[in-house]
Amino acid sequence: MSPNKSISPDDEGDVGRRIYRLIVELYPICRSITGDGYRQTMRLLQSRVPLQIHEVPTGTPLFDWTAPREWNIRDAFVKNARGEKIIDFQDSNLHVVSYSVPVRAVVPLAELKKHLFTMPEHPDWIPYRTSYYREDWGFCLSHRCYEALKEGDYEVVIDSTLGPGSLTYGELYLPGEREDEILISAHSCHPSLANDNLSGIGLAVELARHLSSVPRRYSYRFLFIPGTIGAIGWLCLNESSVPRIKGGLVITGVGDRGAVTYKRSRRGNTGIDRAAALVLQQSGQPYRLLDFHPYGYDERQFCSPGFNLPVGRFSRTPYGEYPEYHTSADDLGFVGPDALGDSFAKIRRILDVMEHDRTYVNQSPKGEPQLGKRGLYSSPGPRELALLWVLNLSDGGNRLLDIAERSGVDFSDIKEAADVLLRAGLLAECEPSGPLAARK
Ligand code: ZN
Repeated sequence: MSPNKSISPDDEGDVGRRIYRLIVELYPICRSITGDGYRQTMRLLQSRVPLQIHEVPTGTPLFDWTAPREWNIRDAFVKNARGEKIIDFQDSNLHVVSYSVPVRAVVPLAELKKHLFTMPEHPDWIPYRTSYYREDWGFCLSHRCYEALKEGDYEVVIDSTLGPGSLTYGELYLPGEREDEILISAHSCHPSLANDNLSGIGLAVELARHLSSVPRRYSYRFLFIPGTIGAIGWLCLNESSVPRIKGGLVITGVGDRGAVTYKRSRRGNTGIDRAAALVLQQSGQPYRLLDFHPYGYDERQFCSPGFNLPVGRFSRTPYGEYPEYHTSADDLGFVGPDALGDSFAKIRRILDVMEHDRTYVNQSPKGEPQLGKRGLYSSPGPRELALLWVLNLSDGGNRLLDIAERSGVDFSDIKEAADVLLRAGLLAECEPSGPLAARK
């Protein structure tokens, strides 16, 4: 199978099911931006791909930030006066506000309520809360459970530790023909939430497995980092290699049933932005393109003005636009193998465009070359049209992506036409010139 061709629905189904199985394995682990749950997650990924696990000591300066103290939790609960556990971390790791400081206390209901978080509009769901950079403790619970709380004293236990340790992240580098890199980043710091962010982790792992088995023009770097601090930390510790990044995707929220949404990089018109737009447009399926805005996931860091990298974000329904976001309803039923497989296939096509987006020069530019005598022209049809477009626009100033955009012909047909013409000696590859050269 030619690498630029669409993968068949069967392949998509297999990949989607493999991603889903990994999500199921990762789901129960209590992750946060640091700690053993994060390490356990990275080790589980290592059973699929040869990930390197890095540890950044607490207190390490990371631009305007500092590697935080490490948080670990063994248990947590709230007991009523009868000794019944009414909130139990063992039932759901979402019950404890992430980074809660250790607590052992007996408190009256009014005091307890200051530390409880619910979602009245969805009374059976548990919200997901964090308190990374403000020392506090808290519990999240269903509003129904909250409403049933009676006056009285409650025993509160959070058996956690917060102290010196390290910030853990995973990294996988796949060398290609060139040192130029494509960055794939998935935040990996959320506990039992399936779409945000386990779907992104699972998809990135399958993508790494796929890319490691095919020829690569670009080198690929996969980051499995805690949100915000992980991206800032990686950029700070690897600043010298950042200029090699020629394109990238932040991958998150790729398992829900909504349409694909691509958020453009800050520059807005880089190769990856155009490749994503082209693939989504040519898919014939609903999609949305969003302009960059300085809120969201780690594209905020990669597109900060000091880096301004050509990194966009690939999601399905954007965070905040689905009520299950950051709640216990973002569970294993909220994501599905079909959507995961479809997201994988589209990302793979975007990367195929990046891989095969080359610039050629027509070697017989005076009049059309006679295709018939070379056996390249039978009857007018899509293939012939692709040949004519590639021949006409291959003047050294247009890349294949330009030709696909302008012609409306599927990129894989444009690429195939270029291959045919190259073999016939009618094209020669050249270094790109013109407005796109800068993005090389
Ligand atoms: Zn999130």
